[in-house]
Amino acid sequence: MSSTRRIRRVLVTGGAGFIGSHLCDRLLLAGCEVRVFDNLLTGRMDNIEHLLGHPRFSFDHYDVTNYLYVSGELDAILHFASPASPADFERLPIQILKVGSLGTHKVLGLAKAKKARVLIASTSECYGDPEVNPQPETYWGHVNPIGIRGVYDEAKRFAEAMTMAYHRHHGVDVRIVRIFNTFGPRMQINDGRAIPNFFSQAIRNEAITVFGDGSQTRSFCYVDDLVEGIVRLLHSDYVGPVNIGNPNEMSLLDMAKKIIRITGSKSPIVYKSLPPDDPKVRRPDITLAQRVLGGWEPKVSIDEGLERTRDYFIEALSKEARASA
Ligand code: UDP
Repeated sequence: MSSTRRIRRVLVTGGAGFIGSHLCDRLLLAGCEVRVFDNLLTGRMDNIEHLLGHPRFSFDHYDVTNYLYVSGELDAILHFASPASPADFERLPIQILKVGSLGTHKVLGLAKAKKARVLIASTSECYGDPEVNPQPETYWGHVNPIGIRGVYDEAKRFAEAMTMAYHRHHGVDVRIVRIFNTFGPRMQINDGRAIPNFFSQAIRNEAITVFGDGSQTRSFCYVDDLVEGIVRLLHSDYVGPVNIGNPNEMSLLDMAKKIIRITGSKSPIVYKSLPPDDPKVRRPDITLAQRVLGGWEPKVSIDEGLERTRDYFIEALSKEARASA
């Protein structure tokens, strides 16, 4: 599994985001020097506040769709900049397309110049509304290119195509992770995804909004398990997309009920219309990850992960209430 290359100086684009900031924590713990570029469109300084002042950490408020300059050596770039919530697909469509295309191009150019390894954050959205369940990496997907979700799906599919072209044409050392639904502390309260919505609604005893009849499925992975998989992929020899996610598939209605139970909430469930192109099923086939990432698999149970996330949301909501008081 492991490649001999030593990874010491690292750039994380989107390092102030939900997943990016957890990656920064993990890379610093491993002794890396970590530099972050983030334009704070959906990332937040709160996520990295505890790292400011760390001797091996630096932050630049920067939009990575522009020319990238980094002085000195760079061993790896992790490209995690992008809005990723379906609510953002309608709010920030052009920014999503730009960071997935222009941003990925700039990152690959920098990697080529620095002879750095590059790991691109891709997504289960590459599979669209899948006709195959679970989804192996060999499935080419079922995407509506001009639909509302198309801005994200196609940006990430373009990013994968560009990444493999730089690998084949310029010999750039590349890794691609296809990230499935992930949850945990530092998700934005208002980012519009199911887990933040359900927690915020349940803790405030407001109605829980289930879209459609709630029979659509997702497979939710706790963020620590995802980060472990990404770090293993970064150090592996495997070129080409690898699914990282938790194969524990459940309906959204079951997730809503679980969150009501875990928060002791009195919230009722209300049903809202299902957004267009919303995938009916989603579940990662993680056979490849297990094989090439030294037996990697999720370790944190859904209930354990949800309890940790509940504690974060309770704190985040009371902080927000104090701030607006
Ligand atoms: N969803 C829901 N209620 C909400 C937000 C989302 O029922 O308040 C549904 C959404 O329609 C989708 C699933 O939950 O079927 C997961 O949505 P999310 O936004 O978390 O991410 P997705 O997996 O669709 O990218």
